[in-house]
Amino acid sequence: MVHGGAGALDNVTNEAEAVRYLEAMRVVLDHGRHILELGGSALEAVEQCAALLEDDPLFNAGAGSVLNEEGRVEMDAAIMCGQTLNAGSVAGVRNIANPIQLARVVLAESEHVMLIGEGAMRFADLHGFERVADHYFLTPDRIAQWEKAHRDHRMGLDHDCEEQMPDLRNDKFGTIGAVAKDSKGNLAAATSTGGIVNKRFGRVGDSPIVGAGVYADNSTCAVSCTGFGEDFLRVALAKTLSDIIEFTGAEGKAAAERGIDYLSTKVNGRGGFIMIDHDGRCCSAFTTKRMIHGWIERGGETVCRF
Ligand code: ASP
Repeated sequence: MVHGGAGALDNVTNEAEAVRYLEAMRVVLDHGRHILELGGSALEAVEQCAALLEDDPLFNAGAGSVLNEEGRVEMDAAIMCGQTLNAGSVAGVRNIANPIQLARVVLAESEHVMLIGEGAMRFADLHGFERVADHYFLTPDRIAQWEKAHRDHRMGLDHDCEEQMPDLRNDKFGTIGAVAKDSKGNLAAATSTGGIVNKRFGRVGDSPIVGAGVYADNSTCAVSCTGFGEDFLRVALAKTLSDIIEFTGAEGKAAAERGIDYLSTKVNGRGGFIMIDHDGRCCSAFTTKRMIHGWIERGGETVCRF
């Protein structure tokens, strides 16, 4: 399963735009299917799918990351292996094309779970990550979006529209995530983002926080969230979803319903998630008008929605 962010998405008004989103999801899902069919691991599949979405400026991650209050990009990403509960996470990183790959190296090569800012950048240098120039991220769309938000001192989800952010109705990108179950039965999850538009310098959302924006445990589920990070942080939503399955024995769909209800009632949270449960059932839920997402259930048809 993959997602390309939650929000209003009212800006997707014409069919060509909608097709572009759905096509991007489809290409990434096909890539993931290929990896898994060849016997690749769920961890490999979610990393590669997330990296592909980071490379697409259509989405708010990697190349298409939104800008912070200083008009700069600061990205967060995390990846988790459901077999071992090992996780790797980075926050506030700059000039890295694929933060999800850096998160994977934190998982594989460091004794830590999370590295931030300058420390994460030094770790990236140590592991041969190339630093890409600022202009790689500064697309005309992103600059226009930031100028509007900055002028009005507003912060918002990338996909927000007139209703939530009157001056950001033309925005059209979103945070990304992937979850997978492989042929050995292992689960994995990945989430990567530029955060929210015009966010404060140093702000970290839910995406890189294990248990908030990402979680994977073979005995429960793999989850990737998107939405207002502060809401997801306050209810630790990804781990809450896992706990619902762990402690009540609920299957994925029922857990997803309880989880989204919990997000709404506790903090009036805005956003959603994709989830694969331990039996390989694909589930999703969102409180926003839409969430771009897609899935391949048990090796079947590719389905994409928003
Ligand atoms: N959850 C992300 C954050 O708050 C934003 C998003 O999902 O669009 O940083």
